[in-house]
Parts: sequence; structure tokens; C-alpha cells
Amino acid sequence: MTYQLPDKLKNMEPYQPITGKFAVRLDANESFLSLPDEIRHEIGVLVSRIDFNRYPDPYAVELCQKFGNYFGVPANLVVAANGSDELLFLLTTCFADAGDKLMVVKPDFSMYKVYGELAGMQVEVFNKDENMHIRPEELIAAAKEKQVQMLIFSNPCNPSSLVESKEDVLQIVRELEDVLVVVDEAYMEFAEGSVLQEVEKYPNMMVLKTFSKAFGLAAARLGFAVSNKTIITALKAAKSPYNVNTMSQVVGGILLDHPAYLDECQLLIRESRDALFGMLQALAGSTEKIKSIQNTRSNFVYVEIENATGVYHALQEQGIAIRLMGNYLRICAGSEEENAAVVQALGSYLKGAN
Ligand SMILES: *Cc1c(COP(=O)(O)O)cnc(C)c1O
Repeated sequence: MTYQLPDKLKNMEPYQPITGKFAVRLDANESFLSLPDEIRHEIGVLVSRIDFNRYPDPYAVELCQKFGNYFGVPANLVVAANGSDELLFLLTTCFADAGDKLMVVKPDFSMYKVYGELAGMQVEVFNKDENMHIRPEELIAAAKEKQVQMLIFSNPCNPSSLVESKEDVLQIVRELEDVLVVVDEAYMEFAEGSVLQEVEKYPNMMVLKTFSKAFGLAAARLGFAVSNKTIITALKAAKSPYNVNTMSQVVGGILLDHPAYLDECQLLIRESRDALFGMLQALAGSTEKIKSIQNTRSNFVYVEIENATGVYHALQEQGIAIRLMGNYLRICAGSEEENAAVVQALGSYLKGAN
């Protein structure tokens, strides 16, 4: 017989990003801010000096040092990776055995389940409450009952845009002492409640960070894991040696040399997010078709809307890309013009369509 794909791959489809030309791209939760010329210049100079014939620093020491300084964590507890996606893949593949159980929550980032299944883990889904929040006691009870080895969730949550309190997250970590609890803080720059600085106190917690959102560096693919010494040493052993290329290490380091710029970006994105949320809320006040809007603590707004698919396609035809998720739309905060464009298009569609 000829080679057959394993069952777990047979029915998988390659990831399909939105393709085509869109004047307004608010579908991928990226930063709408483009790097200033001064930083671009520094990148040009330092990248041109790279020893391209040499492998990168396998532990991205300088980058992790700068990351540690910026976030107030010891650099030796940080691992850099080719986006947090690489870390999720490594975690599910290497920090559990095939057949072990991974608990994910719903709604949440869909890749956790994908990577869990690829790693041969059994995926258990815990449903959030009617307000799209996690009830810690219920999650803890469910994880114990199912005897899971790993729990991954995002906080703030993509797609709900809501945040769980630091106390609730730490309660989950404490009470699930034999479970590796992975807290994906991809959007924590836009909220309060980080547990990043608590990693040393727990034997079973890891925090993931990414430069793809608040840092506006999605093109460079930089993600970070922060945990205690034992877990970080194991992660260093498990990862491929040269996982982060030298160009990305350099670019990430340059960005971290500009903390005031990073703070300003976070402020501007929060302002844009609040403005978008306000405009969408005003729109919701004038139409029954918008069913709910979550009070966002991220850089996007999660809107429940009648005929979400119709709205999604209508906006696409006007050159506006947003994300369709069942009966919901996830709209990323953009520039003032982009926010105005998406709200205007949405408003006129809702007025016209019956
Ligand atoms: C965007 C996002 C990431 C980022 O992944 P990268 O691979 O670092 O770009 C991770 N987790 C969540 C929940 C996200 O929304």
C-alpha cells in the first residue's frame, strides 16, 4: 500500500487567512501602528551588520535580557520562540504524553485544541458561563474530574475580549497543583491582571507573551514563555536549537530599547479600542440587530449580531476585513479612519438589510 497520512492529519485543512486586497484590515488583531522611521533606520543598520553565515544565538540571551528588564522578570526564566504558536506546539507535544488530557475553555483561541489534537492529547472542553467568564470553582472541579494534565486559556480572552481577575487565575493555578496551567497573556498590555510576575511562586504555571499584538511586530514572529526554573530548563531542552532567527532577535531587542514608544503604542491602541467600542455601542442603541457587545479589555471588540455572515460578506465587498466567528464578529481596533469606516459600513448595512 502507498503511504497514508495519519488520521489526525487526514481531515485537517491548511490555515486560511483572509486573502485579497482590503483597504481596511481589522481581522487579525494586529497593531494598527506602523513602526516609526527612526526605529526602522536602527533596524536597517543593525540587521545589515548581522553575521549571516552564523547560526543565531540559540537562547536569544540579549533579547531575553531586555524582555526581562521590560516586564520585570528574571531573564533566565524566559524562553524566546518563533511566535507563541511555536510555544503552544512545543507545550502540547513535549509537556504531556499522547493520550494525556488537555483542557481548553470555550470560547477561546482555537489553536489550543488544534495543537493538542496534533500532539495526540485528548481535548476536554470547559464551557464558560453565560457572561463568557470562567467560574474558577467550576473549572477546577471539571479539570479534577477529567484528570487533565494541562490547561491552556487566554487572558484577556480571544475572542470574548474579556479578562479574568488575577485572583481567579491564581486560584486555578493553586488548586490544580498537578496540572500545568498555561496562561496566554497575548492581550494583557490592554488590561490589568497579569500573573507574569508570579511564575516563580508556582511549580505548575507558565505565562505566554507575544510581540504580534501590542508590540506591533507580527511580521517578526516573536513569542515568549515565562515560567519557573524547572519548566524553563525543560523547555530549553525541548525546543529546536535555533528557533528564533537573528533578524527577529535583533528587531525585538531594538523595540525593547524603546520602552516609551511601546508604552505610547499601548495607550494609543487602548484609546482606539475605547473609541471603537463606544461607536459600536451607540450603533447597538439604534438597532435590535446587534444582540450584544462585550466590554472589551483587549484590542478588539466582540459583537453578537443578526446574520453575522451577511454582514461579514457585505463589509468584505467594501474592502473591509473583519473576523467572522459563528454569530459573532470580532473587529480589531484600527486607526481613526479605519474605525470610522467599519462603523459606517456596518451602520449602513444594518439600516439597509432586513
Ligand atoms: C494572536 C494570538 C497569539 C499570538 O501568536 P503568535 O504566534 O505569537 O503570533 C497567541 N495567543 C492568542 C490568544 C492570540 O490571539
